[in-house]
Amino acid sequence: MAHTRRGWDPSLWVSLKPFGIGEQRPNNYLEIWKALVENRDQLPYAWRILSQGVCDGCALGTAGLSDWTLSGVHLCNIRLRLLRLNTMPPFAPSLLADVGTLTGASSGDLRALGRLPCPLVRRRGEAGFQPLSWDAALDLVAAHIRSSAPERLGFYLTSRGMPNESYYMAQKAVRAMGTNSIDNAARLCHAPSTVALKGSLGMGAATCSYSDWLETDLIVFIGSNVANNQPVATKYLYHARRNGARIVCVNSYREPGMERYWIPSIGDSAIFGTKLAETFFLINTGGDVAFLNGVLKHIFAEEWHDADFVRRCTSGFAALRACLDAQHWDELEAEAGISRAEMRQMAELVRDAKRAVFVWSMGVTQHAHGEDGVRAILNLALSKGFVGRPGCGVMPIRGHSGVQGGAEMGAYATVFPGGEPITEAAAQRLEALWGFRPPAQPGMTTPEMLAAASRGELDVLFAAGGNFLEVMPDPDYTRAALERVPLRVHMDIVLSSQMLIEPADTVLLLPATTRYEIPGGVTETSTERRVILSPEIPGPRVPQARCEAEVFADLAARVRPDLAHRLRYRGMAAIREEIARVIPFYDGIQHLRRQGDQFQYGGPHLCAGWRFPTPDGKARFTPVTPPRTVVPEGMFRLSTRRGKQFNTIVHEQRDALNGATRDAVLMNAADAARLGLRDGDAVRLVNERGEYRGRVLLAPLRPGNLQVHWPEANHLLSRDTCSPEARIPDYNTLVRVERL
Ligand code: SF4
Repeated sequence: MAHTRRGWDPSLWVSLKPFGIGEQRPNNYLEIWKALVENRDQLPYAWRILSQGVCDGCALGTAGLSDWTLSGVHLCNIRLRLLRLNTMPPFAPSLLADVGTLTGASSGDLRALGRLPCPLVRRRGEAGFQPLSWDAALDLVAAHIRSSAPERLGFYLTSRGMPNESYYMAQKAVRAMGTNSIDNAARLCHAPSTVALKGSLGMGAATCSYSDWLETDLIVFIGSNVANNQPVATKYLYHARRNGARIVCVNSYREPGMERYWIPSIGDSAIFGTKLAETFFLINTGGDVAFLNGVLKHIFAEEWHDADFVRRCTSGFAALRACLDAQHWDELEAEAGISRAEMRQMAELVRDAKRAVFVWSMGVTQHAHGEDGVRAILNLALSKGFVGRPGCGVMPIRGHSGVQGGAEMGAYATVFPGGEPITEAAAQRLEALWGFRPPAQPGMTTPEMLAAASRGELDVLFAAGGNFLEVMPDPDYTRAALERVPLRVHMDIVLSSQMLIEPADTVLLLPATTRYEIPGGVTETSTERRVILSPEIPGPRVPQARCEAEVFADLAARVRPDLAHRLRYRGMAAIREEIARVIPFYDGIQHLRRQGDQFQYGGPHLCAGWRFPTPDGKARFTPVTPPRTVVPEGMFRLSTRRGKQFNTIVHEQRDALNGATRDAVLMNAADAARLGLRDGDAVRLVNERGEYRGRVLLAPLRPGNLQVHWPEANHLLSRDTCSPEARIPDYNTLVRVERL
């Protein structure tokens, strides 16, 4: 456990008003009450899930109600809101006999109907779904796959609590069926981080632990709002501040939750609130590379970098310096939206820190230049050797409990298990382990699968979890693409809107278990690389629900009976043993059996002792050039944001952190005044792809920038704009604002 200070510190209080009366803030005690009411029919089971299971929310990671960073209770309202998905009973299959009765139902309405009860099938022209047996369902899928070709198949898994074992078995099964076209939600969040980290440091994960936040001088959040997406992180930040750390946010919006928070499990914070981030650099959406390059330009000009570390432990310094020298201040200022003096202020904070941790999220990665955004962060961190030692690190913080492991297990179109590049040699190594050779060409990424579907070149799409209609840009295009796929299989715990899209030929729904229902327990990997066992929790079951690992193995055995003995499902412990053999850095997972069992692969710090697993053993600086965004007169930069939601699951119509309703258009007061708009005025955001209607919410944003909620504004986004290497869609765009 990290060192913490006892007692109260009034210098950090938000105000003397008790419990933030009158302030815009979440009421976490009300959240507990709501959870009690929602789960009142299964309270003992709900309690067992909370107290014994590993949280299926974000990737901070828990063991029951505790963690490895701080003593005391680890619980937040995201977890409480997700609880009902695990405790609710199934709906009656007859409910789907005519899907017309569900027309107009929101995603929230569909989820609230209950768990998927049994396999269900709907064929073209039929009004709804009819039950069928698991055997009939899997035979149907296997027949379609056998009559198709590997390049016409697509498989997708989402992060909805899905454990490492399911990701691992799914990718192995899919590769046994002859394709690498399996992707997962990690593609849509931190794929650029993985690419950039591997290139610069030789490892694709966070280099440090959360406990480093409590031992550092400076924590920099870039495009990240942990107060909303990883709420217990605010508790770590409270203690970081108590220990003397400075907290800086780089973002286009001064997120209220990052500025102050009332942490319910800490006495003085619960009553008086805590000031978290002291310094905000409000940059343009997409201005991260320009800002970070400007900061580094100052650091190099003043020789504030750690010259000894740079000389001994890095490569590429001269090229980076030359690249920065060629970048002019006026261009950096214009793109970043922030002055050279402010960049110097940030450089001075970096100069004064002996230890620093850099944390980033989708505000950096979900851009057409996502990889370069991460590289710019890594360049800055490397300038002072802020990796591989206590109180230092770079951390792509994950919002969902399954994504870190999902990619590392190889459920990824562009890498094999362990993040191995897809090559003949790697395929040969897997053949020796698996007894069959996987294809040696990369498969389709998620956007590429949809593009193939839209061209009529995808015969089978098997989506375990997720909802393309809400996750991907341009939902009309996505719907049209899905309507063209002859067989769509949706395996999930609840209904989603994509399941109700008209069948081109056949749509199959398969009921999945939750992570708490799987015999033998399952594992997840947290952001800090901790592999944690979540035990099976005794309680009610949906009798026909099956876990994805078992279903993928069963399906592949039907498609490839010759490989059935290689794929046979032998339980979770056996899968963990195989993972340990196939993915060397997961050695240790085979020993996880009981609640509380865990290990942190790579130890608390990757690159410890400044030994980097790159070809030359050195960390690599990478020259990056900022994008040049042309914003036509009258247009704004628009980014999409999360409110009170988990992934696309919207929990409340109003975000208690900032008061924004789902249709809020966050706008700077100066921009609003220029357009003659006031708080609450109805506006239309328009670009070449469509329009979005909402209401102005005056908010402290960088002028010229707007924010709206995701996924509501997805139809304004381009489906074709993706980052060049990781192929992550850009969830930002340009719009014009019109008064209604
Ligand atoms: S902060 Fe994340 S891991 Fe912790 S309880 Fe909340 S959702 Fe779960």
